[in-house]
Amino acid sequence: MFEADVQDVPQHSFTGDLPTKERVKQVIDAAHARYADHADGDVADYIPVLAQADPAWFGISMIDVFGGHYAAGDTELKFSIQSISKAFVFALVCEALGHERMHERIGVNNTGLPFNSVMALELNDGSPMNSMVNAGALATTALMAGGSPAEQWENIRSGLSAFAGRQLELDGEVYRSEMATNTRNKAIARLLESYGRITIDPLEVVDIYTRQCSLSVTAHDLAIMGATLADGGVNPVTGQKVIGAETARDTLALMASCGLYERSGEWLFEIGLPAKSGVAGGMVAISPGKGALGLYSPPLDRAGNSVRSQRVCAYLSKALGLNLFASSAHVKGTHV
Ligand code: GLN
Repeated sequence: MFEADVQDVPQHSFTGDLPTKERVKQVIDAAHARYADHADGDVADYIPVLAQADPAWFGISMIDVFGGHYAAGDTELKFSIQSISKAFVFALVCEALGHERMHERIGVNNTGLPFNSVMALELNDGSPMNSMVNAGALATTALMAGGSPAEQWENIRSGLSAFAGRQLELDGEVYRSEMATNTRNKAIARLLESYGRITIDPLEVVDIYTRQCSLSVTAHDLAIMGATLADGGVNPVTGQKVIGAETARDTLALMASCGLYERSGEWLFEIGLPAKSGVAGGMVAISPGKGALGLYSPPLDRAGNSVRSQRVCAYLSKALGLNLFASSAHVKGTHV
């Protein structure tokens, strides 16, 4: 489907480096112009305050691993990070607990079911399956370092701020709106408790998780956060090492297989990049060793992924040569 949409786009070589800075800028501006009038999808309304978003808001930001910055459209508009936080909280917890323990305690396989599925838990004997869906994200947040819920929250906020390179703030209106309506997440947390998968107060975990989802970010912030994962865990703008290179690799592997929920297979087949979406309309997509895209466009598909952001990623993946799986035949006899 997306493949057909970008048939006219010239293919940049998938190997090696990004095109020149001038070319990247041109391509990003062209992507914004090409999709400016795209209107498919519906703005989320199950968290009441999110329904106020204007479907026309649209921003594309990119940060390369040298800290170079490209932007088109509404890249400084603030919105709640929502599920995109799951990838970065996973990274922080994985950095502390390690690859093996995350694999054992949470899991790394796709559920094939929607992000807030209760059935996924029941079908898998209470395994939260992966940190990119609500059950696994709640179980991951519960493992965050800290002696109290307040400390765990502060560690999440400061950790995600290090990824963004600035102090991120809670959007109180989004937090209150979600807390007033998130009975399903509370049920999932109780169910996890019943399976022995959460050993601290489950409602405190829902509170921290809702706060992490309510952190206010811009498309520009998301691009920096993603670029930190593209750059072996070092923030290319601040120079701070946020996590180790192995954790960055593990986080990207999980985003590739589970970042777009039950649509992850289609996403990888069409676009070929690790990514994570959130129901406020944000998306981050990462090209390891090259850079990351931060996108914002509120209308969503039925799985809860920004439609226009997906289209833009298909375009940029091809025009900038970002797809992880693509290669061109090497010129025979040139390997020395
Ligand atoms: N806070 C939202 C929820 O738990 C996040 C969901 C999402 O972005 N997909 O329902």
